[in-house]
Amino acid sequence: MPIQRTFIMVKPDGVKRGLIGEIIKRFEQKGFTLLNAELMTISREKAEYHYMELQDKPFFGELVEFITSDSVFAMVWEGENIIEVSRSMIGKTSPLEALPGTIRGDFAYSKAENVIHGSDSLLSAEREIANFFDPLSIRSLNKDFPFDER
Ligand code: GDP
Ligand code: MG
Repeated sequence: MPIQRTFIMVKPDGVKRGLIGEIIKRFEQKGFTLLNAELMTISREKAEYHYMELQDKPFFGELVEFITSDSVFAMVWEGENIIEVSRSMIGKTSPLEALPGTIRGDFAYSKAENVIHGSDSLLSAEREIANFFDPLSIRSLNKDFPFDER
């Protein structure tokens, strides 16, 4: 089972609603390891880079406005198959599809403002982590990371 790292971010709506602790709790209870975390306000440039795959979507401008509108809580987590597992913990993008028991299913009522972001692939995870964290600031439990993931 591959050990992976992923980028998880509590979005401005989640920070304002006081959901940082609840989200950290769920990841800790699942057995994942927190490698770094920071409350930050992100620049337009970083937001556009973060969401580059969506730049042609009609809602791209709105999305960048939202994610830069207030503080986010950015985190790096590590664990077995964490990319796929965290996506299932987070739940579907739309509140109509996000199942109860998932973070969005339990807390999100809007498709645009849906509490939390999680990387959807190894490549995105690497790019997203590097966009928000200095590599030297990331707690290093596994000296040989990444090992068997590719
Ligand atoms: P995710 O991977 O589940 O977060 O979903 P996507 O990668 O498809 O979209 C990224 C983010 O864009 C979503 O989490 C929403 O915050 C936002 N988003 C998605 N669809 C819409 C939409 O129709 N309108 C707006 N304003 N934002 C959207
Ligand atoms: Mg996505």
